[in-house]
Amino acid sequence: MKAVQATAPGKPFVLAECPIPQPGPREVRVRIEACGICHSDMFVREGLFPGIAYPRIPGHEVVGTIDAMGSEVRDWNVGNRVGVGWHGGHCFTCSACRSGDFLLCARGKVTGISGDGGYAEFMTAPQEALARVPDGMDPAEASPLMCAGVTTYNGLRHAGALAGDLVAVLGVGGLGHLGIQFSHAMGFRTVALSSGPDKADLAHTLGADAYIDMKAEDPSQALQKMGGARVILATAPNSATISRLIDGLGRNGKMVLLGVDSQPIQVSPLQLIGGRKSVTGWPSGHALDSEDTLNFARKTGIRAMVERFPLARAEEAYQVMIGNKARFRVVLTI
Ligand SMILES: [Zn+2]
Ligand SMILES: [Zn+2]
Repeated sequence: MKAVQATAPGKPFVLAECPIPQPGPREVRVRIEACGICHSDMFVREGLFPGIAYPRIPGHEVVGTIDAMGSEVRDWNVGNRVGVGWHGGHCFTCSACRSGDFLLCARGKVTGISGDGGYAEFMTAPQEALARVPDGMDPAEASPLMCAGVTTYNGLRHAGALAGDLVAVLGVGGLGHLGIQFSHAMGFRTVALSSGPDKADLAHTLGADAYIDMKAEDPSQALQKMGGARVILATAPNSATISRLIDGLGRNGKMVLLGVDSQPIQVSPLQLIGGRKSVTGWPSGHALDSEDTLNFARKTGIRAMVERFPLARAEEAYQVMIGNKARFRVVLTI
């Protein structure tokens, strides 16, 4: 099969001819139709994740069809349309798994990092890592929902806001354009935040009730004028901006961090204690969370905006994504 590999940290991806993988007893083999490129693929490309064995096929926004199954696979059949996301399987026996919190499994596998991922014609995946993909969903539009989508959807639905509450989405990019749509569809009063006036129209089109240009006004004051945010979904990984936004939280407000920045966030205890405010993170979702994301998106008409590249142009597509030259998400079609 054709596959794109990272051969060593820091080296460009190469297109290679690889053996078609065989599923283990509790695994399926997926004939891949599309795989999104995520900023986290940088972990493989640059060797930023401990213990990666090279060569490695990256990709954890996978959509395809089951074409072979191990002998112990239950509840799935050849021909089922499936997605595989960041969460690539769990152990069932660690403390987190015994409590049912599979997402925090101590031995959790990461698709495209612990094993080969979706920049290929085929991959294998454990049965517990599979999400059902609704019929009729375009694989290229479904694939970003397996990471960018489930991260924003799941982060939002667990953040404690109720219908009608003020929810702010920081960033109108790859994650943010999905976060705004999810927030609107979940019934939150949605305000989008970005720098400059040019994203305002798009934010409104995506469902934002209001837009704050952080260059033109103090975003925390603007949020306080609206009553203070119950949730701020920080999709843009910029710790300095996030620090500026803490005072935009209302009573019991929660800052939910999704994007990774290496710089610390500055917040004083005084900013949090009085209004019982908090800063927290949210890590993607397990397979059923991804399935919920796909179904919710299908039901509410939410769509990822994608730029498509063939598998052979994976390195170029990666550079477009990582260099922030893509407006939203980049997807390899296979
Ligand atoms: Zn990702
Ligand atoms: Zn576990």
